[in-house]
Amino acid sequence: MRLAAVSISVLFGQLGQVWAVPVQDSAASTLSNIQKRGIRWDWDESKPNGDKQVEIASAFSVALQMVGHAYDGGKDDYFSDVYRRYFQADTEWSGIYAVWERIIGPLDGDRRSGAGLNSVIISNADWKDDDCDRKEVLGWADNRSVDGVPGCIIKLCDKAYEFPQAYDIKCDDLDDVVSKKMSTISGIFIHELTHCQQIGQVALGGNAIVDHNTDGRKEGYGPRNVVKNGNGNMFKSLINADNYRWLATEMYWRAQCPARGGFGVATSNQDFAKCDTEDGECVIQ
Ligand SMILES: [Zn+2]
Repeated sequence: MRLAAVSISVLFGQLGQVWAVPVQDSAASTLSNIQKRGIRWDWDESKPNGDKQVEIASAFSVALQMVGHAYDGGKDDYFSDVYRRYFQADTEWSGIYAVWERIIGPLDGDRRSGAGLNSVIISNADWKDDDCDRKEVLGWADNRSVDGVPGCIIKLCDKAYEFPQAYDIKCDDLDDVVSKKMSTISGIFIHELTHCQQIGQVALGGNAIVDHNTDGRKEGYGPRNVVKNGNGNMFKSLINADNYRWLATEMYWRAQCPARGGFGVATSNQDFAKCDTEDGECVIQ
């Protein structure tokens, strides 16, 4: 559990400031689209990357689209093979659907917002014991109550801002197999969303979605580790965050790039960015 460097009242004070700043129309509509879905901001424009709020809002919107593709696609043979790559049994699918539903609402709904989404607060503020101080961390999520309401703070670390936006990637840029070239800021958000108690844990009836990294081996991360026959622990797939991230990522690119006819299983576990650690691997807390 982290302690905020700012009090909650100050936190909400900052929210007011954000909306008082004049922004261009397109930027305003991007931000308002996110706000309509119930997302709250703890955003400080004076921080590094403080000028990136609109980009972050865009990446979040695309994350929701990715979840939409993943949710819809489970019903379609062309896409259902992808589910079988990342999750061990068809019996797990109802749990996965429940997670998607907490994010974007039921399949037959208006897709405005899932019931767990209004617990999310996107922050770029300084926090006590901030995991972003660790050079291998791309982002973190932390469950906490805000004014008595269960909340989930999501903070992206500086390295995450180097990841591409999905709309900057073209189908021709992608490899024939799932790879780091599919990796986006939006994917990091999907990973973090599953950690939120009001999303993952509620959807799975009490089991929190975590990161499986025995003895620091980072085996729960990466496009290769999270597939069957990869190095991951498939028996834990339903409660491993990166499985959801890579499933939704691959589903999205399949849907965006139909002419590619699908993608093979990842042959490398590399992600988009390398972190300044011995093995070069990053983690998403
Ligand atoms: Zn994680």
